[in-house]
Amino acid sequence: MPSLIHTLQKLVKKVDQAPDIQQALEIIVENLIGALKIDTCSIFINAPNKEEHLVLMANRGLNEGIVGKIRLKIGEGLVGLVAEKAEPIRLDHAYTHKNYVYFEESGEDAFPIFMGIPIISQRKILGVLVLQRAQVAFDSDDEAFMTTLSTQLANAITHARSSGEIASLLTDQSASISCTLNGVAGAPGMKMGQSVVINHDVSLHNVADKRISDPDDINHEVKLFEAAVDQVKQALYDQAERMKQFLPMEECALFTAYAQMLDSGSLIEDTRNRINEGHWAPSAWGETIQEHADVFTSMEDEYLAERANDILDLGRRVLQRMFSTQVGERVYPQKFVLVGEKISATDLASVPLEGLQAIVSEHGSGASHVAILAHALGIPAVMGVTNLPYTQVEGMVVVADGYSGKAYIDPKQQLLDELKLHISEEEQITDSLNELKSKPAITTDGYRVSLYVNSGLMSDHSPSLRSGAEGIGLYRTEIPFQIRESFPSEDEQFRIYRNVLKTFDGKPVVLRTLDVGGDKPLSYFPIKEDNPFLGWRGIRVTLDHPDIFITQVRAMMRANAGLENLHILLPMISGLQELDDALILIHRAKNEVEEELGEPLRIPLIGAMIEVPSSIYQIDEICQLVDFVSIGTNDLTQYLLAVDRNNESVAELFSSLHPSVLRALEQIVQGANRQNTPVSVCGELAGDPMGVMALMGLGIESLSMSTGSLPRAKKVIRSFSLSELSEFISITKNMSDAQDVRSFYIERLDDRGLGGLIRAGK
Ligand code: PEP
Ligand code: MG
Repeated sequence: MPSLIHTLQKLVKKVDQAPDIQQALEIIVENLIGALKIDTCSIFINAPNKEEHLVLMANRGLNEGIVGKIRLKIGEGLVGLVAEKAEPIRLDHAYTHKNYVYFEESGEDAFPIFMGIPIISQRKILGVLVLQRAQVAFDSDDEAFMTTLSTQLANAITHARSSGEIASLLTDQSASISCTLNGVAGAPGMKMGQSVVINHDVSLHNVADKRISDPDDINHEVKLFEAAVDQVKQALYDQAERMKQFLPMEECALFTAYAQMLDSGSLIEDTRNRINEGHWAPSAWGETIQEHADVFTSMEDEYLAERANDILDLGRRVLQRMFSTQVGERVYPQKFVLVGEKISATDLASVPLEGLQAIVSEHGSGASHVAILAHALGIPAVMGVTNLPYTQVEGMVVVADGYSGKAYIDPKQQLLDELKLHISEEEQITDSLNELKSKPAITTDGYRVSLYVNSGLMSDHSPSLRSGAEGIGLYRTEIPFQIRESFPSEDEQFRIYRNVLKTFDGKPVVLRTLDVGGDKPLSYFPIKEDNPFLGWRGIRVTLDHPDIFITQVRAMMRANAGLENLHILLPMISGLQELDDALILIHRAKNEVEEELGEPLRIPLIGAMIEVPSSIYQIDEICQLVDFVSIGTNDLTQYLLAVDRNNESVAELFSSLHPSVLRALEQIVQGANRQNTPVSVCGELAGDPMGVMALMGLGIESLSMSTGSLPRAKKVIRSFSLSELSEFISITKNMSDAQDVRSFYIERLDDRGLGGLIRAGK
């Protein structure tokens, strides 16, 4: 079908170039009429915020005036049936079908031959394409062609839904765009507030160019530009100062780093040159910023793309200053949620933190700077919300669930009441920590579990200490590495580790050696790979760079002197040779530090992370080489189920409660028990109430989780007996899928009146 393919390519190109979604739809209906020799062509769109409602958005061939008027529920009429079945329907006599609904105003009775094609993206029905003829039935080639076109159209519609275009096309329905959106968990917690939309007011892409030639005008523009830069620089330094009360010095360095970018010769010089060449300041600056950002974007490296965002963010700020002398003096609601296309770390610093409840961002992941900072500040964050209609939501109530990665925009009263209940339940549970804090995590039949916290930022420590945790079960050292501009020196690392070891004096602190690569990039150490999760990450990187590894271990050992609460944990162990090599380096570091200190050092306890499936099958041998093992259920799940842990498209497949994961965990525990090696869990499963039930049932006696998860975990532990939890796991590990396992544990929690621990949407 070469001619149809050619038609398709041409059509897709035209659609891509369409200035907005309505025109894209018009182009499609217009062109299909000719290309397929059809009499009528219609596109129905599933109104994104009206539960399952198909609205006719474009048509050629039927009576005029029906666009926007014909609406169908899913399952209603032939169009609704296509959507319900999510498959094409071809009919030669549409009106004889039992689902046929006749819309008199359309004039469609003249065209009985019908073909409906669903428009689908990620299992969601975005709309239906309908073709009708008076004669000549549609064949399978027509259907194949239309199905291909529909997949292309799905991209355009997804984009239009996310920018709010579709919602605004349907405004006559109601002012509300109430919806629940899925993103990824950025920082834990659940909070609500009035939304404050950020970043959409000034666009670098569409600054009109204005030519200037008069030397006075050029001088004026240069001065305007320099003043704007100075003001933004000053504001950034002020923000860094303000953030000092909330964050430790090293995190504040991020804001000064932004300010220093404005001292960068090339950004300023290039703009001055452009002004001198005869462009007014805004467009000169816009061009310069775009050029610099493009250099990073074109490198196609995830981290560097993030740097492009930093530059664009800075660019917007200066542009905003140039356009208005007193921008930024915005009135913030008492409790607000920051919503935007790309919320940046500097956005966080420019708002009154006292009122900031949560962050909802269309782009970014848990690894973004802003998510790291939000976590440090105890602010829930939902990232990567691909359908976020951010231009439409200013002032609306937004509820962010940073555990499940869900954002509720303008929830309807009933849902809102439910969410408020969850928020207050969470607050109550957190409050009940006060009474549980001093109580042991002990089952109703007297078995004790040790609870630890996961950490990685200094500011995390005081809540962790207050939470009643028995120590730090996982300190992700890569986080302090990620928020810097270069590798931290040994002394810098020493200070960070000393601080945490001292804060938890007398309690174990597990410092994990650097685990970069995969989704954890370092700006100053770019790793470019096609398949980073299966590539150079974790221990593989540090063994290839003994300099980095030894420096880090030396800093840890020096920090441990006199405290003796350090445990060292090795990430991403996939074989015994890696462990042998790491142990040799650890001993070398120990000998060096010992020599320098002039006194004998005790080698800390060394552990291996069990997170690569190969380590399950060598668990006995691994245990013989180390003092403890810690199971990383995040990566273990990712690698066992072959599901990228950061990809929202497959997020529903990612479940650490999958029966296969449970069986793998059982094997690990059995191996560790055979070798008398302590085994703990530090992945997210350890902080999930259902995970706690499963892990305890498997005989795990040590769990490490985020501070916020601790009270819920303790509550679960104190509500069940170990014997019943063991009985539960013998049932769940044999179930057919993760959903069954979840339902089983939810029921057991409900039986105990603990349903409130299972959060909305989970
Ligand atoms: C894990 O993989 O479960 C884990 C705890 O490590 P991280 O999430 O840092 O990869
Ligand atoms: Mg891991």
